[in-house]
Amino acid sequence: MAQYHLHLAHLYGNLLNTYSDVGNIIALRYYAQQMDTSLDATVISIDDQFDPAQFDLALFGGGQDYEQSVVARDLPNKKAGLRTFINDNKPLLAICGGYQLLGHYYIDAQGKKIPGLGLLDHYTLNQDHHRFIGDITIKNEETGDEYHGFENHSGRTFLGKGERPLGKVLTGHGNNGEDGTEGAIYKEVYCSYFHGPILTRNGQIAKHMLLTALHNKYPSADLSQPAALVIKPTF
Ligand code: GLN
Repeated sequence: MAQYHLHLAHLYGNLLNTYSDVGNIIALRYYAQQMDTSLDATVISIDDQFDPAQFDLALFGGGQDYEQSVVARDLPNKKAGLRTFINDNKPLLAICGGYQLLGHYYIDAQGKKIPGLGLLDHYTLNQDHHRFIGDITIKNEETGDEYHGFENHSGRTFLGKGERPLGKVLTGHGNNGEDGTEGAIYKEVYCSYFHGPILTRNGQIAKHMLLTALHNKYPSADLSQPAALVIKPTF
């Protein structure tokens, strides 16, 4: 039996899971085991209640425009719960379509406006018959870490108030192909266009999310052993 236990909400995991974003949960579980921690995941989808008190971490994956429009209709039911979750500094990883839906809106490839949650201050525009596709490398300037992934998106995202990028683009396109940023960090929300999945290729983000979740849930526990796993300080 593991000493610690964490519960992850896989938001719309049956609809938003392009390029095996679910692999992020496998990566989290792999690192969690090394931290004497078991990790359960529950898919929270259309019409399901999202009770933030039940969860320590969350994953909001990417998807096609059609699935994003289906999810968008259900988002108002989850908004209050997700706001609480984010304000409680619980780690949330949002990839591509999920990243777009945390912001104000996403203009899809057909030019249709899909409303988002508006919990983070970014917005996403489309491009004319073009997508950003390929390998991408970025550098996080706070930690000096480089992250590697694969991007495939039509959306061009522009960051807003309170958001800082996950990294500066070294190769690839990133948020919008213009301003050299990729992804977003807001409180303990980590947004990215990286598939791959991001956490299998960039384990330091997974370790940081797990340690944050453990600190939140077990404030008086001595986490120096699990913390020893974090080879470099992050964020
Ligand atoms: N449909 C969105 C876009 O093309 C998100 C794609 C994704 O999640 N990979 O920008």
